[in-house]
Amino acid sequence: MPQISGLAARITPSMTIAITAKAKKMAEDGADIVGFGAGEPDFDTPEYIADAGVKAIREGKTRYTSAYGIDVLRKEISKKLKKDNGLDYEFDQIILSSGAKHSLSTAFQAICNPGDEVVVPSPYWVSYPEMVTITGAKPVIVKTYKENCFKITAGQLKDSITPRTKAVILNSPSNPTGSVYSEKELEEIASVAVEKDIFVVSDEIYEKLIYDGMRHISIASFGSEIKSRTILVNGMSKAYAMTGWRLGYAAAERDVIKAMGSIQGHAISHPCSIVQYAGEAALKGDQTIIAGMVQEYDRRRKYAMKRLDNIESLDYTRPQGAFYVYISLERLIGRAYKGKTIQSSLVFSELLLENAGVAVIPGIAFGDDSYIRMSYATSMDQIEKGLNRIQGFVSQIV
Ligand code: PMP
Repeated sequence: MPQISGLAARITPSMTIAITAKAKKMAEDGADIVGFGAGEPDFDTPEYIADAGVKAIREGKTRYTSAYGIDVLRKEISKKLKKDNGLDYEFDQIILSSGAKHSLSTAFQAICNPGDEVVVPSPYWVSYPEMVTITGAKPVIVKTYKENCFKITAGQLKDSITPRTKAVILNSPSNPTGSVYSEKELEEIASVAVEKDIFVVSDEIYEKLIYDGMRHISIASFGSEIKSRTILVNGMSKAYAMTGWRLGYAAAERDVIKAMGSIQGHAISHPCSIVQYAGEAALKGDQTIIAGMVQEYDRRRKYAMKRLDNIESLDYTRPQGAFYVYISLERLIGRAYKGKTIQSSLVFSELLLENAGVAVIPGIAFGDDSYIRMSYATSMDQIEKGLNRIQGFVSQIV
């Protein structure tokens, strides 16, 4: 039999998908499961955006577009980047894609040669190392620490750079930790990237989901030297509750965007035409809908933190963005639940799912086996119920 490639065999399937599938199966079989695994808003897509999608279909906007996407939306994004982020990108420095995930993978394909290295701070979003591996480049995992809220420091970045380093990936606000980089931290990282002449792939998908009065800052905003080395990635999934629509974008220097366009053109042609028109409506419409969702996430975040503060064996680092709490199992690893030793985040997550009916994502998926990620993108009732169950579950760990 002909065999699949060595590269394909080395790619691990997403662990977040595996545990979510198990929870789904249990729910389908009648179990009462609280889902804290989800990486997507629980809100419906706002009506004005959905209407724009329907209108696009009715108006026959159903033909091929340019590989880069429709100019009207690229222009809207150019305005958004100026207004929200203080960045000047012409519309031809922007490419639309089928989700931020797609922009990221195309970006890595556009900049990486086999043997190159890409610095990936850990804990990382599950797909980063694999996206890099797919290009033949090597992800260089740099462990970050809770003392610095899981953020890579400029010093750590500098120490991890070799002559083969092509890029570093940054994600602020972060999945899975909810950490947000400060202006000073970003400025220091930017100077290292400029000095060492590497790209910064900046995943800003959670830009709008930010709390505690924090302000999202794009690393591209610290001058032309860093801007020309940044590939800024963002999209509609989180801010506009549009995960299933699949619409993201990247902004960068023209040569990078052109390369991404060539790759994308041969792979998918362009993101769905209808979705692009809905995206245009999303950006042109009333942006206060985002504030409403953020307010609700914040209410849930505060409630979850308050509850976790009262569970002695669980620690967490205060999340200031996204919709996750990254919870430490350090005090529980090595102890036992009903005679079963908790050796890892995976064992903890499986026991929690099977015995208490709560689905969380084991930290091993993000490169750290002594944590779990809880998503609070679900209703208050579910959050309360799930945390009651977690509290009861951990109280039985001896
Ligand atoms: N980056 C991060 C950090 C994410 O958490 C996600 C979604 N889970 C994405 C990118 C991908 O978003 P999209 O739906 O736009 O592909």
